[in-house]
Amino acid sequence: MIISMRLHATKEEVANVCDRIKEFGYKVHSIEGEQRVVIGAVGVGDVTPCLESLEAMPGVEKAVRISAPYKFVSREFRSAKTEIEVAGAIIGRDEFVVMAGPCSVESEAQILESAEIVARAGAKLLRGGAFKPRTSPYDFQGLEIEGLKLLDKARRATGLGIITEVMSDRDVELVAEYADILQIGARNMQNFALLKTLGNCGRPVLLKRGMSSTVKELLMSAEYVVAHGNSQVMLCERGIRTFETVTRNTCDIVAVAVLSELTHLPVILDPSHATGKRSLVPALSRAAVAIGADGLLVEMHPAPEKAMSDGAQSLDPKQFAQMMKDLQPHIELWKRARMTQTAAAV
Ligand code: PEP
Ligand code: MN
Repeated sequence: MIISMRLHATKEEVANVCDRIKEFGYKVHSIEGEQRVVIGAVGVGDVTPCLESLEAMPGVEKAVRISAPYKFVSREFRSAKTEIEVAGAIIGRDEFVVMAGPCSVESEAQILESAEIVARAGAKLLRGGAFKPRTSPYDFQGLEIEGLKLLDKARRATGLGIITEVMSDRDVELVAEYADILQIGARNMQNFALLKTLGNCGRPVLLKRGMSSTVKELLMSAEYVVAHGNSQVMLCERGIRTFETVTRNTCDIVAVAVLSELTHLPVILDPSHATGKRSLVPALSRAAVAIGADGLLVEMHPAPEKAMSDGAQSLDPKQFAQMMKDLQPHIELWKRARMTQTAAAV
């Protein structure tokens, strides 16, 4: 349900409505706009009795059902885009945010060098996995806590924010101590125990689309995190598995535009995992800008031929700097489009 309060409804009226919703056993999220308060309520069972009761309460303008199965993340619930403030940037507003770095944190020298390279080229966040989800148990699994400490060192050296993956609900508290954004990998998109724990991790979350997941399933997973108390969620398209094998995954580029229609959450594109080939990363990154993504998550390695994971899809320092330069005119157009959309939404 969405409950729109009247203009200038009193604080007491808002509080009474929230209490009534809770009496029905539903969860409450409220958004305080400049003009009015909008309250969202979700729970199990038929909402009709609750709707009818709320409509009769003082201060309520209207109460309507949210028809999408994902409630708090739907555009129906919130028309304005969610903005996520992190590392001096606001994701979801008028800045195209680039997060870049190696697939895995491998050593102090490697991550510090990576951080300097991506910062110099204009990235706002450093990526790098300390806990790695690898298909083979014999492949490099990540430096774990040591990797987190090295990421922290890189942050202090460069001022970049840190985005890194958390694979288990047991590690959420630990990773949240070191990371500015918690990355949930494609393989864990439906790890519901993990998603629930993210509800009170105190950090923004980047949720990657599962390799065999639909857009709707991605939104339902995001709903878990938001319904458990954390509204700072962004989504990431990173390619899905199809019959096509010429690229590592098939990038569902239109999913970015579809998601912008269905949800207010920011959408990031990962051109590295979506293609598996560094030669394709710049073209797909341009496409991400053109289609209105909010940013990129890109793999860059100081020496890709020596990378312990995903070297083939990692840009080298020169390629990354060149791509960032080449994206600039596209980002200028993106900014103009963003400003027009923001003006239209007000
Ligand atoms: C990664 O970002 O290195 C990664 C493992 O990505 P994904 O979960 O999309 O496969
Ligand atoms: Mn990777």
